[in-house]
Amino acid sequence: MFINSSLDEVKRRENALKFIASLVKEKGRSSLHDLSGLAGGFPVEESDLELLETYAGPAYFYQSLQKEGIFHLGGEKVLAFNRTSAAILATIMALVKPGEEVIHYLPQLPSHPSIPRSAKLQGAIYSEYDNLKDFKLGDKTALVVITGSTMDHQIIPRDDFEKIIQISHKQGINVLVDDASGARLRTVVYNQPRAMDMGADLVVTSTDKLMDGPRAGLMAGKIQLIDQIADKAHQFGLEAQPPVVAGIVRALQTFNPQRILDSIKRKDSLHHQLKDLMNSFEKTPTGVMISADDLLKEVTAPETDLFVSEREVATLMAMILLKDHHIVTIPAVGMPGVSTTIRLDLASRDAENVDNTQICHAIKDSLQKLKKIILDGEKCLKLLYEPEDCI
Ligand SMILES: *Cc1c(COP(=O)(O)O)cnc(C)c1O
Repeated sequence: MFINSSLDEVKRRENALKFIASLVKEKGRSSLHDLSGLAGGFPVEESDLELLETYAGPAYFYQSLQKEGIFHLGGEKVLAFNRTSAAILATIMALVKPGEEVIHYLPQLPSHPSIPRSAKLQGAIYSEYDNLKDFKLGDKTALVVITGSTMDHQIIPRDDFEKIIQISHKQGINVLVDDASGARLRTVVYNQPRAMDMGADLVVTSTDKLMDGPRAGLMAGKIQLIDQIADKAHQFGLEAQPPVVAGIVRALQTFNPQRILDSIKRKDSLHHQLKDLMNSFEKTPTGVMISADDLLKEVTAPETDLFVSEREVATLMAMILLKDHHIVTIPAVGMPGVSTTIRLDLASRDAENVDNTQICHAIKDSLQKLKKIILDGEKCLKLLYEPEDCI
């Protein structure tokens, strides 16, 4: 066993970040290809820098944030948070009392942990459904959460979305939409309306997902609800500070859906090329992915009794992609417990610097190496935990 605890994962992450730091230092940022789809960015302008103060900053950026935020998400008022998770926590603290219930509907389990964790912290009951037939409100339901697009980019069908809002509003229950990536995927790729335009009371999006902003949460909704949530956010320090707000404003101003649209066509041809290599590659809305389960089947022959876990095989593959091909994917750099799916997102900014042939070559090479080293425990440990020079 190579990965035995979350402490091991912390070490793996540090090793990956160390490699990235040395690569960027030696060969510059352009030598790194972050295809995680979560690279974010911070597109502030020179003139913004002198306004990054505690009071002048919000005074200056507040109006632009309202204008750009409402343009992107709809609603009457917006509020910026440190993370999408922080926005979800503030909402549950503001709108749900201990003992009341939060119901979460999503197109496919598992849920993002921020929703059940926030409910637990507030002492609320939590139920989740990924099937409309099972979905039902209870006497104690105080908030319904809909996830528009899951962590693996599964999208909620528009009919289900509308039905849940209708059922909830009939009983006077507010609906929060977790549209972390959905605010762009649902609208740009699937032509669905914005959550607020479908009748949601609140929506939150991550400004680093399919967008070049900082990792932060942007929430929109009705004025009265936003004010109530803002009050809680300020009490617990969950609101975004001026530098992050400036980054969000500029990211919203420079957001261009064309890159997402271009990635849709490109992923079809990449998927076609990869199919010859490994049958189990699947399409995502803006790229391709392989699950750890499929990767494990691919790498280990059925008759061998090799004891490697799905997480280990996915992490090893991600580390080879990073160290040999300078391609960043989530299992290499994510926090402990992160998703083990290897996802290559062609809507990433860096996707412009690598073509499909290069990506195929990197996958083919990495797969061959993975099959070889998986039989050699020492090499696996070295790959995961030992600092190596960039080549
Ligand atoms: C990314 C994501 C979140 C949390 O975003 P953070 O910035 O990590 O707090 C919540 N829900 C969904 C569906 C997500 O994809």
